[in-house]
Amino acid sequence: MKFKKVYICSSCAAQYSKWQGQCPACGKWNTLIEDVISESLPKERKNITEFSSPAIKLDKACQSKFERKKTGISELDRALGGGLIKGQIALLAGPPGIGKSTLMLEAANGCSKNGLISLYISGEESCEQVSSRAARLKVKSENIYLMSETNLVKIIEEIKKIKPSVAIIDSIQTIYHPEIGSASGGISQIRECAAELLRMAKQNSISLFILGHVTKEGDLAGPKILEHMVDTVLYFESEKSGAYRLLRAQKNRFGPVDELGIFEMTDTGLVCALDSFSFVSEDKESVCGRARTVFFEGTRPVTGEIEALVNKTFYPYPRRIFNGIENSRAQMLVAAIEKNVQLRFDTYDIFAGVKGGLKTKDPACDLAFCAAVISSLRDIPIPGDWAFLGEVGILASVSSCSYLSQRVAELERRNFKKIFIPASFKEKKESKVDLCRVKDLKELYSRISAKAQ
Ligand SMILES: [Zn+2]
Repeated sequence: MKFKKVYICSSCAAQYSKWQGQCPACGKWNTLIEDVISESLPKERKNITEFSSPAIKLDKACQSKFERKKTGISELDRALGGGLIKGQIALLAGPPGIGKSTLMLEAANGCSKNGLISLYISGEESCEQVSSRAARLKVKSENIYLMSETNLVKIIEEIKKIKPSVAIIDSIQTIYHPEIGSASGGISQIRECAAELLRMAKQNSISLFILGHVTKEGDLAGPKILEHMVDTVLYFESEKSGAYRLLRAQKNRFGPVDELGIFEMTDTGLVCALDSFSFVSEDKESVCGRARTVFFEGTRPVTGEIEALVNKTFYPYPRRIFNGIENSRAQMLVAAIEKNVQLRFDTYDIFAGVKGGLKTKDPACDLAFCAAVISSLRDIPIPGDWAFLGEVGILASVSSCSYLSQRVAELERRNFKKIFIPASFKEKKESKVDLCRVKDLKELYSRISAKAQ
């Protein structure tokens, strides 16, 4: 077999014989990665799926409903959009050591309790290592098979023999196709192995989890190509404080992509979070530049906080750094404060974001963002049992947001004392908490500064 050196774009998988700074196919910079392929690679390409039919009328096509199978791990089911579908291929990507293998072993356990047979293929650890990890996680079931192998041909043989409902490949970077000359982990290996696995899974209606590593620099070389091939992409990441693991769907052919799975990492494995969640500490202290709020992650209300630091600048152009909030939205809110409240930020740096490295696009956080920024600029402490809910418009008016009553109820349950809400909010039932209605940012400013004096 003859081999040749090629350069493959990690973003669009285009192939070149020479290195270039920019990929002519997709226009991305610095995405070409050196790889070795065999020159005798089969010219004829196989189909990714085995679905093939002549054209038929839509009403004649028989409908099959997606049948979802629960993995038994509530947060994984949530991120998958309600459960696993037959023949679904999911990529679970995340940095090494985040807990991907742990999550998958627990999923195999959950599936086996629901009567599904699962096969766990580890290319990273021996069967002994995997089983000792399983013992630590109290995973034991007759329905789970373990296999330690990196040769794709042997893996596929074994899958066809065992016929599991769920197969887990840990990880795609360690698997190699014996007919391809390049080293495992290379782009052409990953692409060919994944294509082969996909074909096999679709043909045999096996739900397949493919684990993929992501480096700390966010270099997605392999998994980036995989993202286009699979049905579902799940990102497993650590929240900033390290106490929680977040599972986020970035792509899902079978469900929504805005659901967030939250886990707590403990000695005995991952513990699923409850239906409502709080990233906020219990302390009720008054702090400058901190405002609490409730935002929705998919269908779950999450209590979180916005932090802002507004400080005299040393630069000719003041800095604006926002984390977890859309930059343009944050800029607009700052401009709305300047115009409406007549506070000046032109000689101040502004750093603001959602605590814990969370990201949100929920407009209900606008009011909390404005409160945090104003509080930091004017050194007005905001008590820890106050919260802010409302969307702020370009003319600084505070308007209602979705699920407002549900958010208020959530804060009430968490013993918040005072909630700033849009003036338009009409609550029928009596509320324990002090609902402070504000119509615009000027009113917000006068209400929070009145408390300070
Ligand atoms: Zn490209």
